[in-house]
Amino acid sequence: MQVPLLDLKAQYGGLRDEITAVLRDICESQAFILGPRVEELERAIAAYCGVGAACGVSSGSDALLLCLMAEGIGPGDEVLTTPYTFFATAGVIHRLGARPAFVDIDPVTFNLDPAGLEAAVTPRCRAILPVHLYGQSADLDPMLEVARRHGLTVIEDAAQAIGAEYRGRRVGGIGDYGCLSFFPSKNLGGFGDGGMVVTRHPERQDALATLRNHGMAPTYYHRVVGGNFRLDALQAAVLLVKLTYLDEWTAARQRNARRYGEMFAESAAADLVGLPQRASWATRHVFNQFVVRLPADRRQQVWDGLRAAGIGCNVYYPVPLHLQECFRDLGYGPGDFPESERAARETLALPIYPELTPEQQRFVVDTIARLLGP
Ligand SMILES: *Cc1c(COP(=O)(O)O)cnc(C)c1O
Repeated sequence: MQVPLLDLKAQYGGLRDEITAVLRDICESQAFILGPRVEELERAIAAYCGVGAACGVSSGSDALLLCLMAEGIGPGDEVLTTPYTFFATAGVIHRLGARPAFVDIDPVTFNLDPAGLEAAVTPRCRAILPVHLYGQSADLDPMLEVARRHGLTVIEDAAQAIGAEYRGRRVGGIGDYGCLSFFPSKNLGGFGDGGMVVTRHPERQDALATLRNHGMAPTYYHRVVGGNFRLDALQAAVLLVKLTYLDEWTAARQRNARRYGEMFAESAAADLVGLPQRASWATRHVFNQFVVRLPADRRQQVWDGLRAAGIGCNVYYPVPLHLQECFRDLGYGPGDFPESERAARETLALPIYPELTPEQQRFVVDTIARLLGP
């Protein structure tokens, strides 16, 4: 039995006719950049996230970059964020000449721990950039409180968490900006790169849309320098089709997570496999990833053994960002963020995609039990 980490072909199989039809429409129109499909997607995603405005962009990374640019963040500024995330979260800060100032994660959700925030605020701080990792929300209320006290902007990296909820509210619309990614492996994935900024400040939509298109308004007049961060019509058309299935897919991911919980609890490996834990505030976890903790000295063996058995798995992420070579100039070192470093040694992501079958899950659990067995 083969169990891939993600099976996009299975998803596509069920959507082929619908998607082919909308792609054909775009081909007939030969209108590829922005346009009515992108605007329709912006309205649909804004409604889905419970916000007043959205701006479709070229990727999740560019969504983050656009928000920082809209806030005028640059050299001399600091942005508080987590070292345990995909590189883009901190990469965009550094690219603008600002400093990513890291704060350690909480071991339950793997997200920025608000307990460490206040002490990390300096006069140069401009923003807080929490990530809702694996599809579970960070603890936003205490972050918003720190932001309010110090006049900071809150930009949520919701690339892995579209539709996740924090105390009953959709992520992305709780801070000042929310950033979504439509990278194919995300819960709502396009046929290529894509992303979106959502914001509960509708009056900022024009500024975002202008920066997305070289700061151009009106055509060939530039009061600010932006970039080419546009979303294209083909992506928007595909995403509009897929959005109608997103809640169904999320429910399937949640069902698979519950099933893993039951299977692992009864397995011989129960004591050695740390299952994902639900934080009290995370009222809707959308399981972009199902990440377990293993004893650090056994992880490589399990990783290799699963691959050898035909089971896809991966480590998100093996090197916390404060220890990345390109960030050496920031002056961090081993031991600075112990929970992030421990997570980097212990975590392993298992297949959780919607089409996964109970038989496949049984095989994953049994294989891990065998690999960890006496
Ligand atoms: C995927 C991801 C991004 C970047 O999104 P792209 O669309 O790949 O640019 C940013 N942050 C996190 C946490 C992500 O998982």
